Amino acid sequence: MTYAPVPSRSLPSADATGATVTPLPSKPPRPIPFVDLPAQQARIRPQIDAAIAKVLDHGRYVMGPEVAEFESQLAAYCGAKHVISCSNGTDALALGLMARGVRPGDAVFVPSFTFAASPEVVCWFGATPVFVDVDLDTFNMAPDSLETAIATAKAQGLTPRCVIPVDLFGQPADYAAIDRIARAHGLWTLADAAQSFGAGYGDRMVGTLGDISTTSFYPAKPLGAYGDGGAIFTDSDEDAALLRSLRDHGHGDTRYDYVRIGMNGRLDTLQAAILMEKLAIFPDEVERRQAVAARYSAELPAGIAVPKVVASASSVWAQYTIRIGGGRRDALAATLSDLGVPTVQYYPKPLHQQAPYAGALLPEGGLPNTDRLAREVLSLPIHAYLDDDLQTYIIGALARAVHALS
Ligand SMILES: *Cc1c(COP(=O)(O)O)cnc(C)c1O
Repeated sequence: MTYAPVPSRSLPSADATGATVTPLPSKPPRPIPFVDLPAQQARIRPQIDAAIAKVLDHGRYVMGPEVAEFESQLAAYCGAKHVISCSNGTDALALGLMARGVRPGDAVFVPSFTFAASPEVVCWFGATPVFVDVDLDTFNMAPDSLETAIATAKAQGLTPRCVIPVDLFGQPADYAAIDRIARAHGLWTLADAAQSFGAGYGDRMVGTLGDISTTSFYPAKPLGAYGDGGAIFTDSDEDAALLRSLRDHGHGDTRYDYVRIGMNGRLDTLQAAILMEKLAIFPDEVERRQAVAARYSAELPAGIAVPKVVASASSVWAQYTIRIGGGRRDALAATLSDLGVPTVQYYPKPLHQQAPYAGALLPEGGLPNTDRLAREVLSLPIHAYLDDDLQTYIIGALARAVHALS
């Protein structure tokens, strides 16, 4: 299918005589889902059915053969030495902190502009989240704010221990700069790659960017299961052995031998079987998501800020998030909704403004970019099955909605 002509940057709905000049309909050709899991399912339903049937036949529902097989496939895909699958992306983060013994008195540096899981797990271990501001263009951790936050934590008598760079919306954080600061202060990195599995950074892939990296297979993530799931990645043999033990109640070498306090953090065999079928089409899906994002970035109207991907990185576009200032975001979202274009605000209320995180620390000067983004961000529909005609409609609707604001 070829692209329809792109609407001009300013798109009046009527000329001076009142005649309509826009060719755009005010309804999409068919409903636009924000994420389209049914389309993906339709593509691979026979393979999924067969994979599920195989597990039902062998009956090893917990730690069946598909679990190890899926872990090897993930390792081969991203180049990590060890992959430990687990129950979800939140437990993946928690297992990472558990493996490295994070404890009360420790400061863990994490963005406030993220999903709640990233700082939540820090509190499970009695450590203190120290919120770090983010960059306005990439939405990812700002290295200069990390420096300030480390100084703030030290001044409060905390021990700086760990940085959790979050790869927000699918783009890896600025690991080169973050690693430099982390090494200088003796910190290790726990890369929260819940949204970015499949993305690249220089010649490395997500899964190899943190000392320990984690991801989520929540259904709506770029690589999603039909239920909860997650994975942990590391090149360290020692961390990998610990993580495998912690994931299954701290087991030792023989059955019912326990050598540490762990948890039940295993991935179901059924989810591993399903995820292998999804992984088979994942590279193609990532390419399609990137094509949609490229078209949005080229064709969306002036007056909104499109997301930027740094030169050495690629994004898997878990979200395509635009910014619009001047208090116009909610009006833009309402107009788009009237035009049949669903949007989501990721994230309207940063975590440092929320009650459970009242005990967290903020760097000197606060989090001005985070506060601003919460007022300006709006995520557009993006997925691998968003057809050209729907993309055209969404781009036209944005042009019309932005024009209506001015
Ligand atoms: C989804 C997500 C998580 C948590 O993953 P679950 O599998 O839902 O537990 C953690 N961090 C970020 C940034 C996420 O987007």
